[in-house]
Amino acid sequence: MDIKYLKGVGEKRAAAFKAIGIDRLEDFLNFIPRIYLKKVTIRELRNYFGENVVIYGKVVDVEYPQKKQQPLKIFLNDSTGTTEIPFFGKSEFRSKQFRLNDNYIFWGKVDEGFGFSKYKLNYRDHLKIDNLEKNDLDFMKFPYFPVYELSGELKKTWIRPLLLSKIVYNAFSSMLKENPNLTDETLPPYIIEGANLPQKKESILRINFPLKFEDVEEARKRLAFEELFYLQLIFALKKRSIKNEVKGISFTKDITKLKSDFLKACGFDLTKAQEKVINEIHADMKSESVMNRLLQGDVGSGKTIVSIFAMLAAVHNGYQSAIMCPTEILAEQHYSTITAFVNKYNEISGENIKTTILIGGQKKKLREELLQDIRLGNTNIIIGTHALIQEKVEYKNLGFVVIDEQHKFGVMQRAKLKEKGLNPDVLVMTATPIPRTLSLTYYGDLDVSIIDELPGNRKPIKTFLRTDSDKQNIYKFVKEEIDKGRQAYIIYPLIEESEKLDLKSAEENYKILKDRDFKEYNVGMIHGRIFSYEKDEVMQNFKDKKINVLVSTTVIEVGIDIPNATIMIIEEAQRFGLSQLHQLRGRVGRGAEQSFCVLIAKNLDDVSEKRLNTLCETTDGFLIAETDMEIRGPGEFFGTRQSGILNFSCTDLNKDKQLLNRARDIAFNLIASDPQLRKPENEIIKKFFSENFKDAVYLMGVA
Ligand code: ADP
Ligand code: MG
Repeated sequence: MDIKYLKGVGEKRAAAFKAIGIDRLEDFLNFIPRIYLKKVTIRELRNYFGENVVIYGKVVDVEYPQKKQQPLKIFLNDSTGTTEIPFFGKSEFRSKQFRLNDNYIFWGKVDEGFGFSKYKLNYRDHLKIDNLEKNDLDFMKFPYFPVYELSGELKKTWIRPLLLSKIVYNAFSSMLKENPNLTDETLPPYIIEGANLPQKKESILRINFPLKFEDVEEARKRLAFEELFYLQLIFALKKRSIKNEVKGISFTKDITKLKSDFLKACGFDLTKAQEKVINEIHADMKSESVMNRLLQGDVGSGKTIVSIFAMLAAVHNGYQSAIMCPTEILAEQHYSTITAFVNKYNEISGENIKTTILIGGQKKKLREELLQDIRLGNTNIIIGTHALIQEKVEYKNLGFVVIDEQHKFGVMQRAKLKEKGLNPDVLVMTATPIPRTLSLTYYGDLDVSIIDELPGNRKPIKTFLRTDSDKQNIYKFVKEEIDKGRQAYIIYPLIEESEKLDLKSAEENYKILKDRDFKEYNVGMIHGRIFSYEKDEVMQNFKDKKINVLVSTTVIEVGIDIPNATIMIIEEAQRFGLSQLHQLRGRVGRGAEQSFCVLIAKNLDDVSEKRLNTLCETTDGFLIAETDMEIRGPGEFFGTRQSGILNFSCTDLNKDKQLLNRARDIAFNLIASDPQLRKPENEIIKKFFSENFKDAVYLMGVA
């Protein structure tokens, strides 16, 4: 049935539902209430003082105001008593709205009344109930009323909260009549019973219309388990198919000399964590199965150098390596770091390894040459942006792929770069540590390596929280540091929603800094909108210390490495996420000098202040990531809202850590013992999976 035929919907509202993703009746299955209201009798109101409740009764009197500032009063009666519901203003309209002897439910907050009725209800919403309609009466049976998110689209069509609840109820009754198997069980009994979960049908019913309050959480957990289980099943299948069905490359050549030359080129000792991670990566590379590994570590923990080692090892075995970066700045910087390192390595080892950069905006002729080098194998390590995955790029024998700052790329881009190679081993690096729950739901098909220590020569960054009024003092401090030879960043927020305004204010502030506050110094500016040759020039000047203060929007967030820059000032820090701030802060503290980070914030409430203080107190990226996710929720964590995989209706990653682990264990064990889902007890899973995860099945290359 088209939802426009549902009672209370119609053409216009159907369009509004469509706009929020509810197109068919069964889409209501994923529409989960936000809160629940208890239905109480009028006599019971006294027990719910200050709470939001729903009452149901008949209008027995309407009292007009004597004076203008007095309210119109509706008197509602049920079999237990009568109460008063006052309305201020619009009394003409209200008096026509509620007719004597009609039945209504009212949602309101219980308040103290005067005289005749001791408790009154401060009005929130109402719904007329037709005592002769079976559907209406059935709706009144439940002890709690669900309240759903009333989005702007729906509001525009004058849907009120209780009407929406009724519409959802109508949708459920039609759905169950028309197509009762929509709520059929989707998990086999052995899982349901083993995990002690309620049945699906029961859960869907109870999360919308609970009989007792505890029903809600129990039902939510059941539905969340299903979401997590099927996601983990995808990961388990994908991981297995990668490991078993496609043969990868085994990079078997001995690396003793490579490693010792590499260390000489480094000029420093690896940290224990780097050593461990290099071993993990190398073990994967040696094996015939395709590597799919996530490398996590704090900014400055030395991931890049680890990835260089792995790329060299692949080259050592006669293959090409590529590293894909999310921005041109980062690609250029990696290119210069890697090239400098490789040159040193070549000198030490007597080899002749070549590097190439491939980014947008390169001259046609140069580009043709580069493409030819890549195709003929005249170059060994290719560094670039998503230019690396364009159709025209053909590799001679791409065997190892590094994807830096993975969360900026989509899953599709990851897949594309793989397609360019011969089932290359893939190392994904994220600069922001990710909470474990999130890495299991987002990168659940990857093995994880973690670098959890910083090279020993680092002094922890000192971080301070300040307000606008401290600015002149801060600038004074910055000048003192510059006079000692240091450099500073000043960052202005630039967020998508207000990009133009933000950019304008950053540019205005830049002028003020340049012409007034730092008149005697050299101030440069860089942001996402300037041309890449301009960017290059500014960055080069900053590197060469020709610029003392670099003003920037958030483009420098990723990977910039200038050890002499020791001061990071972040304006309007309250507008950034914690992980993003941590990442920005990681641009300093890269050398041996003491570094400082100053967060300048405006109009702080308690929560934001607490949030920002976390940064002053710790430099542990994993701890910061956990806190960030707890405060902002997983959807916002990555900065860009990712659709798809994290699109849970019922799962709350902050609450469901254990549930996630359980779902993952069960899914992975299941795929280990029944990879083709052939066992009769898993039939139900196979059916649900192939009906509901077609895209995933395709994307994950699972037949
Ligand atoms: P990440 O990629 O994790 O942000 P990098 O690999 O860029 O970190 O390392 C940051 C800086 O620290 C680089 O200048 C790098 O050469 C240096 N570095 C890396 N590992 C070590 C180490 N074990 N000891 C000393 N310095 C190191
Ligand atoms: Mg391998």
